[in-house]
Amino acid sequence: MLTKDSNSATPVIEIRDLHKSYGDLEVLKGVSMIAPRGHVTSLIGSSGSGKSTLLRCANLLEDSQQGEIIFNGEPILWKGAGLDRRPADRKQVTRIRTNLSMVFQQFNLWAHMTILQNVMEAPVTVMGRDKAEVEEKARMYLDKVGIGDKCDVYPAQMSGGQQQRAAIARALCMEPQALLFDEPTSALDPELEQEVIKVIKALAEEGRTMIIVTHDMRMAADISDHVVFLHKGLIEEEGHPSDLFGNPKSERLKQFLSATV
Ligand code: ADP
Ligand code: MG
Repeated sequence: MLTKDSNSATPVIEIRDLHKSYGDLEVLKGVSMIAPRGHVTSLIGSSGSGKSTLLRCANLLEDSQQGEIIFNGEPILWKGAGLDRRPADRKQVTRIRTNLSMVFQQFNLWAHMTILQNVMEAPVTVMGRDKAEVEEKARMYLDKVGIGDKCDVYPAQMSGGQQQRAAIARALCMEPQALLFDEPTSALDPELEQEVIKVIKALAEEGRTMIIVTHDMRMAADISDHVVFLHKGLIEEEGHPSDLFGNPKSERLKQFLSATV
């Protein structure tokens, strides 16, 4: 049964008018976006446009100065500067981080842990889940991403594509409500890229809620329900991939697309 929190009409995450500065540099200048449940939203844009910052603000890895972040209908941060803007409390931060699992460009696996230990680490130590149950799930997710035979090896013994698939299994093992990918294939050689894209595609077909920052326009066109083009900290254009890629309106997006393909 759907509770209020898991109502399918409520986006997993909603960002309204978010502003983020590093010192004098305003990186996000009022960005609004939603991640509807069961949808894939891709975030594209030139290097430095604020894509990673937006993802990191969404799951509270970064603070922001203004705007609202609403998780499952629950306001975590809301509009207004200074005293009006109450920071998220620790429980909310943990809830957001565990429910919006990140997959990074550089995998970020623990070098001193086996793949199985890497995947089990957060559910056991951060979330306090039962170790035997987590191990069963971890093995299942490693199987799902095609590296079920790699449980006992260390990250350095695997290819980049395998490491990234392990990082995806690790994110899945948190059983999050959404997955956030930050350029998941950028660090990979083209032939290894494909094995990771295949896994991401399969997750999209399962109807998982995802936000994917990517430079891979073909993947974005292929799997997204919605594409957002960020330019210098503002959304320049957004829409269905067939419109955005097939019939871009803004000059900046046209330029960006002609430079990337
Ligand atoms: P993208 O992911 O789109 O390439 P980023 O979000 O990484 O862009 O960066 C946006 C801008 O913010 C860039 O100008 C970058 O130099 C700056 N920036 C990112 N992180 C930091 C930081 N920790 N301190 C200062 N400036 C930062
Ligand atoms: Mg980035």
